[in-house]
Amino acid sequence: MDFNENPEEASFRAEARAWLEANVASSERSGARSGGLTDAHSEAEAAHVARAKAWQRTLYDSDWAGITWPTEYGGRGGTGIEQGIFSQEEARYGAPAGIFAVGLGMVGPTLIAHGTDAQKKRFLDPMLRGEEVWCQLFSEPGAGSDLAGLATKAVRDGDEFIVNGQKVWTSGAHYSDYGILVTRTDPDAPKHRGITYMLVDMRSAGIEVRPLRQITGAAHFNEVFLTDVRVPVDQVVGEIDDGWRVTLTTLINERTLIGGGGGGGDLFTDMLDTARKLGRTDDPVVRQALATVHTRLQLMNYLGMRARTAVSQGKVPGPESSVMKLAYSQNSALFASLALEIEGAGGMLAEGSGDEADWHDYFLGHWGSRIGGGTDQVQRNIIGERVLGLPGDIRVDKSVPFREVPRS
Ligand SMILES: Cc1cc2nc3c(=O)[nH]c(=O)nc-3n(C[C@H](O)[C@H](O)[C@H](O)COP(=O)(O)OP(=O)(O)OC[C@H]3O[C@@H](n4cnc5c(N)ncnc54)[C@H](O)[C@@H]3O)c2cc1C
Repeated sequence: MDFNENPEEASFRAEARAWLEANVASSERSGARSGGLTDAHSEAEAAHVARAKAWQRTLYDSDWAGITWPTEYGGRGGTGIEQGIFSQEEARYGAPAGIFAVGLGMVGPTLIAHGTDAQKKRFLDPMLRGEEVWCQLFSEPGAGSDLAGLATKAVRDGDEFIVNGQKVWTSGAHYSDYGILVTRTDPDAPKHRGITYMLVDMRSAGIEVRPLRQITGAAHFNEVFLTDVRVPVDQVVGEIDDGWRVTLTTLINERTLIGGGGGGGDLFTDMLDTARKLGRTDDPVVRQALATVHTRLQLMNYLGMRARTAVSQGKVPGPESSVMKLAYSQNSALFASLALEIEGAGGMLAEGSGDEADWHDYFLGHWGSRIGGGTDQVQRNIIGERVLGLPGDIRVDKSVPFREVPRS
């Protein structure tokens, strides 16, 4: 791909910038790095969710939502580069984002690839309009890296499935309207078969959401208990017992989303602001650190554009999404340390919220980026096996009926 903007792209950028300048309220032009969600399960969070929904609706009404999505599903039918340009411009303003990441970044592309016409019609438009927020009910206490070891059971009862089990680390479950749920429907099949992927209304009877508090003090994710939850069969995505194929589409989109450089605010500008405020921009070590951050962020942007271009050409991003996810978590670790170095010892006194304290949250939160969306070690396995062609991990339980796999 050619990274120089052609005249159409330059004009798209100018149009996006002018529109954002006119439409992002000045009250929204802050809090980019924390995403405004540090005070979870509170009135402040409810207000943030309401603002984010209103912003998504504004984007939709002006045809800026779903830039790469096909027009038939309410998108703009644009290119991956256009999405990249818009994300860069939007990041300059710190408009509320984040709560739609699962829906727009993972569920939408999965439904477009595997959903029925009725499912696309019912769910895609409200997602783009920001009316329905989605969460991802994949991980369980006994299934994370080895997601295919999931045990949440779904048993068919006429036109419905009855679901029982427990999910964990479910980001945003407490304000979500719908969830993507993976369940075990055939325990006699080997673990990658016998899985069914379904869409569940988070307000269904039998769903209990309990917050999990993190080191930052926020409770961004939850445990979700499912007891006799009824899910209509027409909310199954793909074929019954063949949900692993659908799951992989979601996971690949998740890695691309996390590593793709979209959203997350303008980290480089924030760091530069901190360095300027503290009078550190003449220090050659700080200057070198800032140059490193800028260069690495640019590389992430280019990788993200490449992946989004592939998606907009109808291709599914491949194992290179693992390279992006791994690079993202390594960058987060490096950037967090550099931010604290720029702050120096005085940064230890920062508390509450505001520039300096935000870097502490960023530092404490970056450990999670090495785990969420698949751990660093798992990304390395994928790169080793699928990109470099190295011998595979030993998987003794791959062909055994799930029922016979020893479990703790
Ligand atoms: C911030 C955050 C948000 C999250 N949001 C969600 C969400 O919304 N929905 C959801 O479903 N889940 C979510 N998760 C959960 C996440 O997907 C899992 O934590 C992750 O997949 C790891 O699973 P685990 O925690 O069970 O760890 P385990 O799989 O038990 O791994 C423990 C350790 O063993 C290593 N390991 C495991 N298998 C291998 C292997 N084969 N080779 C080498 N090393 C290995 C891992 O790398 C890790 O270091 C989130 C997690 C975080 C941190």
